[in-house]
Amino acid sequence: MRPALLNPLFAPVTSLSGVGPKQDKLFRFLLDRSDTPRLVDLLLHLPVSVIDRRTRPKIRYVVPGTVVTIEVTVDRHRPAPPGRSRAPHVVYASDDTGDVMLTYFRAQPGYVEKLLPVGEKRYVSGTAQMFDGTLQMVHPDRVVDEEGLAKLPQIDPVYPLTEGLAIGSIRRAMVQALAKLPDLPEWISPEVLRRCSFPSISEALHRVHEPVELTDILPQNPFWSRLAFDELLAGQLALALVRAQLRRPAGLRNAGDGHLRNKIIDALPYALTHSQQEAVKAIASDLVQPVRMLRLLQGDVGSGKTVVALLAAAAVAEAGKQSALMAPTEILARQHIKTIAPLAERAGLRVAILTGREKGKERRDILSRLEAGEIDLLVGTHALIQGDVMFKSLALAVVDEQHRFGVRERLALTDKGDAVDVLVLSATPIPRTLVLTYFGDMDISELREKPAGRQPVDTRAVPGSRINEIIDAVGRAVDSGKLVYWICPLVEQSDVDDFAHLTNATKRFEILQKRFGDRVGLVHGQMKGMEKDRAMAQFASGEIQVLVATTVVEVGLDVPAATIMVIENAERFGLAQLHQLRGRIGRGSEASTCLLLYHEPLGEMSAARLKVIRETTDGFRIAEEDLRLRGEGEVLGTQQSGLPGYRIARPEVHAQLITQARDEALRIMKDNPTLSGERGEALRCLLYLYERDEALPLIGAG
Ligand code: ADP
Ligand code: MG
Repeated sequence: MRPALLNPLFAPVTSLSGVGPKQDKLFRFLLDRSDTPRLVDLLLHLPVSVIDRRTRPKIRYVVPGTVVTIEVTVDRHRPAPPGRSRAPHVVYASDDTGDVMLTYFRAQPGYVEKLLPVGEKRYVSGTAQMFDGTLQMVHPDRVVDEEGLAKLPQIDPVYPLTEGLAIGSIRRAMVQALAKLPDLPEWISPEVLRRCSFPSISEALHRVHEPVELTDILPQNPFWSRLAFDELLAGQLALALVRAQLRRPAGLRNAGDGHLRNKIIDALPYALTHSQQEAVKAIASDLVQPVRMLRLLQGDVGSGKTVVALLAAAAVAEAGKQSALMAPTEILARQHIKTIAPLAERAGLRVAILTGREKGKERRDILSRLEAGEIDLLVGTHALIQGDVMFKSLALAVVDEQHRFGVRERLALTDKGDAVDVLVLSATPIPRTLVLTYFGDMDISELREKPAGRQPVDTRAVPGSRINEIIDAVGRAVDSGKLVYWICPLVEQSDVDDFAHLTNATKRFEILQKRFGDRVGLVHGQMKGMEKDRAMAQFASGEIQVLVATTVVEVGLDVPAATIMVIENAERFGLAQLHQLRGRIGRGSEASTCLLLYHEPLGEMSAARLKVIRETTDGFRIAEEDLRLRGEGEVLGTQQSGLPGYRIARPEVHAQLITQARDEALRIMKDNPTLSGERGEALRCLLYLYERDEALPLIGAG
């Protein structure tokens, strides 16, 4: 149960005055939430910059183009002439050194007159400009009288804007939210508070939203850092709680004598790479330990993680137990089963797939076989964690591309068995600091070598203006029987309009179809599973030679015969994403080419990123460069600017805080693993504030 103390912060933003149902939608968009945001979400939305209103010159000394606050006397009004609503309402004002025009467009009748009464003194703040030799201020940000001046913030925070939501609305909402901030207990230990010179959370929130100094809102300063530390601590503590639960002695041996594994290895048409063998060995030894496994298997796309996961499942089956493999998308789940099924069959391992597409009788059959223990490995999507999916004896959960799943989902899956061992597959090599932020302490296996026989990919950057040449080249490739991926970007998360991002791929598809006819296929995220699979199957069989796609092909899709990839607007993709995409080619024995089409002009940052992609195919190096160039969000291939789930902490600024938060979390786990007493209560507040409370039921009420 959430501490009652926090209730005011969990009130919806619509409870604030000036935030109605219309703003609800805008605030959802602003704060990136699917439901109505709460005050806490608003308060943790930090400013990106500030406006300094402290300059108070006389009119004559105003520097055009700067923000100033000036004291004026209102001389006269010139409202828009009747019937010419597009003409501005101009207010002439002055001081003893000069004149200024205050200009309002489309003002409500009477509004400006009331705001700036003739003959009175007012303080106006905003950006001054020269217009026809006269100083002018268009829509002053603030107009106040003597009394208002005392309350006028000297420094105004600026928030990223959402179309339709004025900065003033955000500020007004923020002021109200700050006023509702309860007196929160301190959850950070005195040592850390002292060492890092952190202010209290209340002071931190006030100072970033009501800055006193221009630097108050900088991420490296104590106010923001305090909030970042809180967020990191909440994350680390939640992970530690989950881990403590996972690490409970299981006393179970989840691996058998090796007979199934040997059969699979014998059936492989290739030899395992050295690092695959190492990973298999490490997993096997985890499986027989009397503590739960929590292992991350990292490896570039195409490095052969699936077979390692299959061998883990085989080991578990040898001991008469079951495994589940959960993938983030239907496509990936089907890809896995395709790789796995033939090998499993040869070894007598019983596998099945369960996604949203298995329905009715088919689904009931799978569920009853699963419960009877007649399925050894169940591959699937989120469908695996539905309540009615019951295993006879689930012992291993393999989670592919974990960062797309939250802790909640991982727990939901591991809850389906006793002391379930967990293997996480990640195709995005993640630098160590981020592993820590994301997963907490985990054992790690890396697949660093590429399977033998792979050809390098020749990567080139080409300006978008040469698209016709590219289409010609694709034409020649198609004529000689080659398979081509053509990737179009998702338009920025303007998901308000769900279909905006389709236009790119769909349009390109139509253009290419005119040229290549039915040799072109299309696959995007809004298509039904069946349609997607059909398009991909046709591509895999060569029936379709050009597959126009959005990033749905990003991870896992395996068509070794595809040797060409064109990526449109490559500058819009994150490095990790480009790397993932490119990993779709170069999987066979033929040389491959990747063409990065970019939109001109190319910014410095984009140029640097494309250069990295051209120069190396080492995913680990790319991840490191990415972290250096762009910061965290891109490293994980997300389009958000921060770590998913982390709104405030930024590894490039707060890297040190990650380890400190981890140490603090470990100390808490050692001294007070049930989060009891006063400090425990405070820490529970922290977990709720940062939405990391999912682990709390594991330790019970405090
Ligand atoms: P990942 O999931 O790591 O991206 P996959 O497991 O899908 O990679 O493997 C990619 C392809 O490489 C598959 O077709 C798989 O059969 C093949 N493969 C896996 N291991 C080896 C190996 N040691 N030698 C050759 N091919 C391999
Ligand atoms: Mg894979």
